[in-house]
Amino acid sequence: MSAPSRLTLFSLAALSAASLALEEPSALEAAEPRVLQGSYLRAEDHRVGQVAYRIAALAGPLCPASSPLTGILYHHLNEYESADRSGMIAQFDLDRGLGVLSVIGDSPAAAAGLTAGDVLLTVNGRSLNLDPALAPPKSTARRAALEAAELQIEQALAHGTARIGVLRQGHQTELSLTSRPGCPGRVRLARSRQTNAFANGRYVTLTTAVLAFAQSDDELAIIIAHEMAHNILNHPDRLDSEGVPKGLLRGIGRKAQKVWATEAEADRLGIRLASAAGYDVAAAIPFWRRFYAKFDGPQIFRTHPSLGARERIITETIAELNLGAQRPELGKGALPDR
Ligand SMILES: [Zn+2]
Repeated sequence: MSAPSRLTLFSLAALSAASLALEEPSALEAAEPRVLQGSYLRAEDHRVGQVAYRIAALAGPLCPASSPLTGILYHHLNEYESADRSGMIAQFDLDRGLGVLSVIGDSPAAAAGLTAGDVLLTVNGRSLNLDPALAPPKSTARRAALEAAELQIEQALAHGTARIGVLRQGHQTELSLTSRPGCPGRVRLARSRQTNAFANGRYVTLTTAVLAFAQSDDELAIIIAHEMAHNILNHPDRLDSEGVPKGLLRGIGRKAQKVWATEAEADRLGIRLASAAGYDVAAAIPFWRRFYAKFDGPQIFRTHPSLGARERIITETIAELNLGAQRPELGKGALPDR
């Protein structure tokens, strides 16, 4: 009998452990096409992006380092299956630059006049770092060009207003884009049947399956804020530097304690972030109960604390927030786009 493939192992892990994992299975995006049967994920991306933007913008005072938020959700030709690329070029000119998939309302991007369907060509007169050679459809490099261009735009915005060269319906124009400070809020959606979410230090990734599992934006905010907290607290780097093994071995042995400690920290900060953005954090406990009822597995595979431990941390954090509810900076921010 042949050994199980890497993908099978990850699938097994997803089935047997209640894992909103810290670590992104490298096989995930390679295995799952972004476009399936001609549909693409604009509405789903927008919903995830909107919740992430709201948390990042309104929880800014809770974050030690500030990030320039624009409210742009990007897409790139690399993310699409080969068979779908010609259609994406015809519809969106995606061979010309970085596509604007969606724009969050009441954001700097909306104020700049950017709209879905625009293609970004330049920033402050310089071409975007978009490698013209397309990544093979199933390679892990399929997000690299988008991430490099997104970083280039953020770096320009760190110095103030940026001039953005835009292709719109065949015509080139230039817009002035600003940003607002907030928590690091980069988020992406991966089409996958694994009910999971990941933090890799730079991005939060949610799968379409976990998006479908969330019954409200409040639950979605609990998931996103938890993963965002891992990135804000530098957990991926910290666990790597402490020599904690990756993958299935992560939840096993002495070093599992270090992983569980990061989970407790991410739960605490995540609840505070979601609360600061005005989400109903009371949704957290029913969400985790449902999640554990469906996905919990043997202790040996567990990369996360038990449901009981998790409930205690969340209850304590909500109680602390209620005690501090008089503090005006929390939960009072206005952001009508919900
Ligand atoms: Zn976690």
